[in-house]
Amino acid sequence: MAEERIVSAAPIEEDRQLDLALRPKSLADFVGQEKLKENLSIAIEAACRRDEALDHILLYGPPGLGKTTLATIIANELDVRIDYTAGPVLQKKLDLTGALTAIQGKQVFFIDEIHRLLPDVEEMLYSALEDYRVDLMVGAGPGARTHSIPIPAFTAIGATTRAGLISAPLRGRFGLVLRLNPYETSELTRIVMRSASLLNVEIDADGGLEIARRSRGTPRIANRLLRRVRDYSEVRGDGRINRETARIALDLHEVDPHGLDEIDRKVMHTILAKYGGGPVGLGTIAASVGEDASTIEEVYEPYLMQLGFLDRTPRGRVGTQLAFEYFKLSPPTRGQLGLEL
Ligand code: ADP
Repeated sequence: MAEERIVSAAPIEEDRQLDLALRPKSLADFVGQEKLKENLSIAIEAACRRDEALDHILLYGPPGLGKTTLATIIANELDVRIDYTAGPVLQKKLDLTGALTAIQGKQVFFIDEIHRLLPDVEEMLYSALEDYRVDLMVGAGPGARTHSIPIPAFTAIGATTRAGLISAPLRGRFGLVLRLNPYETSELTRIVMRSASLLNVEIDADGGLEIARRSRGTPRIANRLLRRVRDYSEVRGDGRINRETARIALDLHEVDPHGLDEIDRKVMHTILAKYGGGPVGLGTIAASVGEDASTIEEVYEPYLMQLGFLDRTPRGRVGTQLAFEYFKLSPPTRGQLGLEL
């Protein structure tokens, strides 16, 4: 359903087409994530000064926050080639062998969804990352031998939404492990204004803010909502976007004022309505929502925490007063178990 997809952070075909136009190309154009950018720019400059390949980098964080964009920017800043692949694409060792033996010195090799590598492919990656060599099995049976092919020093950039699924040996081979956090509304507003200017759309600051607020802390969603509002303003308005056009267009698409999607709402409903605000264990929430625990923890909770709707405590997840107010529920009074809905 279109309304479901509009606030989903996973890319849809339409995003892919516009990605190229909207993707920032340098670190200076990449909005937000200040600490991460500072760490990256130091590492990039150090590698350039030494004329060495940059250390391997693992980027993790919820979908749509800019991991692929950052990998592309890193290659641009280093002025090297980048090859893209993804965990689910590398089905066999031979697929990885092919990719690795084509590698050029100091280039970037981007592996999206690196948590989805099959174990034997992952193992093969270890020696490539650590010793810059590819181990090939020649022959079969008792006569089989391992043949090592050296490859030039390169930079692997792994991206994952699920850091918890990365094995310790793989994680240990990345010199830099960097986390992307959901964006603040002010940062998303800057992203919306930048994208609008690239798309030649007239928009005022309040219109940008209204779109940013509903973007679930996620640039990919911000860009998508901007396109929906642009459609609306071109067809029903004068083509210019202000707060009113943004509000009407996004209400029409039933985008929640905080951009919450169905899973976000189910998580909060479980904590607030079923368990009186908590504390509730992660496993219980997961079972009730029908998602696995680590997806809730790594993909959904960061934004709910940023909104101030949810706290993690040693005893479990707790819904905040703010969340009760937003979902128009009342916290249980002392001695009262049930909740008004
Ligand atoms: P991920 O790989 O984490 O899923 P992407 O790198 O594909 O996310 O980013 C999704 C889209 O959001 C990109 O097309 C890009 O235009 C935009 N984007 C992401 N991060 C930023 C940022 N910090 N500044 C501007 N645009 C961004």
